[in-house]
Amino acid sequence: MSQPGIPASGGAPTGLPAQNRASSASGSLYTNGPVQNALMSSQVSVNEGYNSQLPGSYPHLIPAKTLNPVSGQSNYGGSQNVSPLSIYQGPGQTLYRPPVASNPVTPSLHSGPVPRMPLPTSQNPAATPMPSGSFLPGAIVQPPLNWQYNYPSTGSQTNHCPRASSQPAVSGNTNLTSHQYVSSGDPSLQNNFIKSATPQHANKNPTMSVGYSYPSLPPGYQNTAPPSTTGMPPSSLNYSSGPQGFTQTPLGANHLTASMSGLSLHPEGLRVINLLQERNMLPATPLQPSVPNLHEDIQKLNCNPELFRCTLTSIPQTQALLNKAKLPLGLLLHPFKDLVQLPVVTSSTIVRCRSCRTYINPFVSFLDQRRWKCNLCYRVNDVPEEFMYNPLTRVYGEPHRRPEVQNATIEFMAPSEYMLRPPQPPVYLFVFDVSHNAVETGYLNSVCQSLLDNLDLLPGNTRTKIGFITFDSTIHFYSLQEGLAQPQMLIVSDIEDVFIPMPENLLVNLNESKELVQDLLKTLPQMFTKTLETQSALGPALQAAFKLMSPTGGRMSVFQTQLPTLGMGALRPREEPNQRSSAKEIHLTPSTDFYKKLALDCSGQQVAVDLFLLSGQYSDLASLGCISRYSAGSVYYYPSYHHQQNPVQVQKFQKELQRYLTRKIGFEAVMRIRCTKGLSIHTFHGNFFVRSTDLLSLPNVNPDAGYAVQMSVEENLTDTQLVSFQSALLYTSSKGERRIRVHTLCLPVVSTLNEVFLGADVQAISGLLANMAVDRSVTASLSDARDALVNAVIDSLSAYRSSVLSNQQPGLMVPFSLRLFPLFVLALLKQKSFQTGTNARLDERIFAMCQVKNQPLVYLMLTTHPSLYRVDNLSDEGALSINDRTIPQPPILQLSVEKLSRDGAFLMDAGSVLMLWVGKNCGQNFLSQVLGVQNYALIPQIMTDLPELETPESARIIAFISWLREQRPFFPILYVIRDESPMKANFLQNMVEDRTESALSYYEFLLHIQQQVNK
Ligand SMILES: [Zn+2]
Repeated sequence: MSQPGIPASGGAPTGLPAQNRASSASGSLYTNGPVQNALMSSQVSVNEGYNSQLPGSYPHLIPAKTLNPVSGQSNYGGSQNVSPLSIYQGPGQTLYRPPVASNPVTPSLHSGPVPRMPLPTSQNPAATPMPSGSFLPGAIVQPPLNWQYNYPSTGSQTNHCPRASSQPAVSGNTNLTSHQYVSSGDPSLQNNFIKSATPQHANKNPTMSVGYSYPSLPPGYQNTAPPSTTGMPPSSLNYSSGPQGFTQTPLGANHLTASMSGLSLHPEGLRVINLLQERNMLPATPLQPSVPNLHEDIQKLNCNPELFRCTLTSIPQTQALLNKAKLPLGLLLHPFKDLVQLPVVTSSTIVRCRSCRTYINPFVSFLDQRRWKCNLCYRVNDVPEEFMYNPLTRVYGEPHRRPEVQNATIEFMAPSEYMLRPPQPPVYLFVFDVSHNAVETGYLNSVCQSLLDNLDLLPGNTRTKIGFITFDSTIHFYSLQEGLAQPQMLIVSDIEDVFIPMPENLLVNLNESKELVQDLLKTLPQMFTKTLETQSALGPALQAAFKLMSPTGGRMSVFQTQLPTLGMGALRPREEPNQRSSAKEIHLTPSTDFYKKLALDCSGQQVAVDLFLLSGQYSDLASLGCISRYSAGSVYYYPSYHHQQNPVQVQKFQKELQRYLTRKIGFEAVMRIRCTKGLSIHTFHGNFFVRSTDLLSLPNVNPDAGYAVQMSVEENLTDTQLVSFQSALLYTSSKGERRIRVHTLCLPVVSTLNEVFLGADVQAISGLLANMAVDRSVTASLSDARDALVNAVIDSLSAYRSSVLSNQQPGLMVPFSLRLFPLFVLALLKQKSFQTGTNARLDERIFAMCQVKNQPLVYLMLTTHPSLYRVDNLSDEGALSINDRTIPQPPILQLSVEKLSRDGAFLMDAGSVLMLWVGKNCGQNFLSQVLGVQNYALIPQIMTDLPELETPESARIIAFISWLREQRPFFPILYVIRDESPMKANFLQNMVEDRTESALSYYEFLLHIQQQVNK
């Protein structure tokens, strides 16, 4: 099959054969190796090593209701016929968890059965034997929810169309500073330093386009050998003054020495910590990503960890070593993040490896001036003539100083061979639920007003197209043909076989029909106010919208307020309120494949569907969400949205809608991730469709989406000291340019277990485990996912204890790099996605899972382990100074009520929500100078905004909260919480270190881990 977009890789595929990929597509594997290992390994009957029993030392801490005799009888401690060790442990691996018989349960104080560890309160005892409680492939019992199967509808992607216009406009569709390296060949551009104006349509981020323009070759060099290339003394090939001082293979030994001398590990990083003695390991400032242990010359060129990071910053050289570490190997990406600076190359020659199609990058090696060696497949390639000229220095013969070789993140303007068809115009189609329920919420008014406000800010150009569909039990189209006096509504009531009336007038040029569009947006909210129609034909409306968009692709924005009831895709309520807390009875899987199939159709036609669900009732997000997941869209969820009763939700919706409408967007995108020969990518996480072995189809790409992949070591990396990973995102900008954004990450290879542990990135590991746990929840069960999370900690720390530590001290010994691992996993267990024993509504849980899969790591971590600050005593000490603003930086506190005091006020930043808890004895100063009230009793029961008072205290906290909000693409609601407020429970729920009715405290959890590790 031809590769859409990015030209096919000529060889050295980085992925597994298709059948392996298909079987690994469950995504729930903790596979550190090829899937077939699972099939080859014998099915051993083993027990979950950590299972059931709690340490005898603290069983009294377990709430009585977990000692449910019924649940105990189907105790998970029983033997199971699974092969949990097959992939986790490579050949020769001997770290089997002991079978249950060798670990008799200590009855301890229990007279009854022993509860399982993470204390689910209402396990269903009648369930079938549980699969393994670790991220192991043998445990999958159900066919996986698989978005990697072969889907025939590749549509236009198989046709390689010539490009329409051969000269792309250089104007930046970017909201960032662009260094435009223009190889126009126009000598008049030679000394130009072009500073273009801020693009009008960019979003609110600071926008400037700075360009360096230069000809491709200086006059006089074009057909002659450059004087400097002949007879060059070998020493000059070392480029000693530049970052290219390293070369991979020829200087391998030297590099190693250099790498050791450039140790970036702080001595602190070499500490071994006994977590039972040093529990408070949370830093007071935001946790920084692990820095790869590379020579500084290499590291300073490396990709920003916000864009691209690996769970292990030191890559184990063999799969056996990886297996021993028991840590997941994978990458976390935020490839389309808004950047303040991005070099853009407009050279007509994009230099790539002839063999594996890797883009030239800072980590290739130059054998001499005319040849470079690929850092992924090691092929030696010629340096093209044009590449010999350095546009920045305007010197010939310095290919290693080209921007492509100096920037790990770079964007290319793509020539015609990167196009399957001429770049399509930006197309925006809005699909509105206008049933009685929808009208009741009043959302239509907000959306239409927001659209009116932002119509000129939609990313696009003169070709931008827009259209609208509304639906209840029927489907309504709107003709917006230029010249009409007013929009014409066309109703199609046959929802069984939807047809498109007058298709040519429904998606119209925004500029030409702007007045009609504005008319429609002004009248739409009033048009249905009297409706009595309660039915919802969402499925047929989506089918109609798909048909309308098929020729061009684009973005479909769907607003839905209830469970669809009519036509294709109609759904039934599945949530049973009384079983909300049950780990097994909940419906995490879609009840129909309608939405997935339609999403794949959309993907094939370059249509992405974004779903806005505004519903107070169960709407089966597990089913509906598939429409966005497989089409590379996003899901937004506003439970209990109501224009009058829930104003703060309205505010959130409006803010997020504005971001949504105006943020950067890429169309017709594909992304490929390559890695050095020997490594293999086998499982992908995020919203997309895997179209061919390793090509992710992204009809839309947005700056707020994150992705993750899992990897294994297929061939030993013993002959190399460095490996690289490269993501290439090919997309059509809203200005109609074809662009390629490339990120390259370079990491060292290590041969010892200790080094693997030292380089572990605990946030990336936790993020990847969360993604894997979502898959496991869906393919197996929530309780299995929870077990697997706990086992990930136990297994890795056991491996560390038995294989790295020489003297076996008592306690829970962890490497410094993993000092927060148990805490973050405990936080995941208490996260909305995976928690038990709560009243979490099903759609809210599903939405949390969607967020795990689709959010960049930084937001996922904040949602999982919120940041807590004391804010009644903010000072300017250590404050940030941004422009004219002073932003206080209070220390981050542990998430425990021990850290609270009644005479203070504490702000919890949980990502999508900010909670300001005010203690009963909080100082009068804070009450009057910040909250603007005279005494505690006067704090309103519902307070979601702070007054802007003319006091330094007020200015400080408002500056701090605004700054927190600016950091993210969504709008966190602020709740001010009094001591007796019902919201206080939400606040306390996030106190991850404390014990709740259904979950262990951090200390209890550590004791449990210790007991399992020290077995
Ligand atoms: Zn290559």
